[in-house]
Amino acid sequence: MKPKGKGKVGQTLQIINIVPLLVFGFISILLCYYCFTRTMYMEITQELHYVACSVESLMDAAYPGDYSLVGDKALQLYKGETNITQAYDLLDNLKSQTDLEITIFYQDTSILTTTYNAATGTRFVGIGASEAAISQVLQNDGVLFAPSALINGIRYFAYYMPLKNSDGRTIGMICVAKPSGQVDTEILKSLYPFIIVTIAAMGIISAFLFIYTKRVAGILLHIRNFLLDVSTGNLTAELEPSVSKRRDEFGDIGRSALSMQSSLRNMIEQDALTGLSNRRAADRRLKQIIRKYATDGTPFSIAIGDIDFFKKVNDTYGHDAGDLILKNVADTLREHMRTYGFVARWGGEEFLLVFDHSDVWEAHQVLENMCSDLRRMESAYDGIIIMVTMTIGLAAGDTTDINALIRSADEFLYEGKEAGRNRIVWSKPQRNDEPVEAVISLAEADAIIREK
Ligand code: GH3
Ligand code: MG
Ligand code: MG
Repeated sequence: MKPKGKGKVGQTLQIINIVPLLVFGFISILLCYYCFTRTMYMEITQELHYVACSVESLMDAAYPGDYSLVGDKALQLYKGETNITQAYDLLDNLKSQTDLEITIFYQDTSILTTTYNAATGTRFVGIGASEAAISQVLQNDGVLFAPSALINGIRYFAYYMPLKNSDGRTIGMICVAKPSGQVDTEILKSLYPFIIVTIAAMGIISAFLFIYTKRVAGILLHIRNFLLDVSTGNLTAELEPSVSKRRDEFGDIGRSALSMQSSLRNMIEQDALTGLSNRRAADRRLKQIIRKYATDGTPFSIAIGDIDFFKKVNDTYGHDAGDLILKNVADTLREHMRTYGFVARWGGEEFLLVFDHSDVWEAHQVLENMCSDLRRMESAYDGIIIMVTMTIGLAAGDTTDINALIRSADEFLYEGKEAGRNRIVWSKPQRNDEPVEAVISLAEADAIIREK
């Protein structure tokens, strides 16, 4: 049974083409996001480091001397001789220029900061530093980059740097922080063009692959359906012209399938000895001609020719000589019928001649010329020349009943044999401008078999 549906190859091709592309696209986006975020973090760390160093330098420049905490209860932070517990100007100035939050810790407690408590409206002073900052900066004298520090309910990128006095002792920390949201927005803003271009490219390539694979699958389906038709015996099946016209391997396959069909048709529909159409092909082609006659009234005629005394040829000169005669006769008939229709081997030494656009008058004229040539035809075999004649029954194509037509031509043929052979017998239609004539009788009666 003929399989239906779109075929699995198309779906498989689409999956193996499009899925890896999508996976590759999404992995690229993720990889790019990861690399870009890392680079941004490094840049932010650098930026925060510079600002922390600036804070340290500016404080040193503005208030020379070491940091010290003075007092018992209300502790005051001094730098040199100056009480800097309320000296916010410098830090606030820097904040307005850089948009960064700056905090100075004395030991683990914030003393000076630009960060406000949103609830109370006061600065975050007297607040303890995180465990990580205490351990990394105060105890180990290192720096700390905390990409997700929570200050006042907001996430920050925070950079902690040790704050040292002139003796090199770490007495606190400088913390510079940037809101994470701001950084995330910057990262996404920078990534948007890449993401959009990647998704658009994936979309375009996917659409292209989809259309291409659909087309390829369509071609394969045309070829498959054609081969299925041929394999079930339909030797007139047609292959989609768009496939056979292609200049690629699919076109090659399509053309090979067509030539396979044509070879099969020849094998099945061609007579091996004479190369003429056999009875099966003749039947098919005659049906087509009759269909055309039925649709638009195209005139046609059919004739059956039989070689006279052929058995005698076989008996006298052998079967091979008979075969040679059959081939030569077939060639002559083919030559005369070339522009008028076709000739087929109808039986042993019988031929069917079909005129696909000639009325019986024209057909008769062609047959007359053909018989004259046949009478003159000399077949040389084994040093001898063999000559034959043919008797023909000609019928006008005035019906769509094939059997009746064949019967009519056969009856005329029989009449011709009875009347002495070597002639054309037909029912000559009466023409208005002509007197009625008798059936044409040809000269010789018997086959002329002449030895040289
Ligand atoms: P008629 O004039 O009445 O047609 O006489 P005929 O001898 O031609 O007719 P008949 O039917 O008696 O003989 C036909 C012969 O054709 C018999 C058969 O051996 C021969 N024949 C049929 N097919 C072939 C073939 O393929 N090759 C050869 N060599 N002979 C064939
Ligand atoms: Mg015969
Ligand atoms: Mg015969």
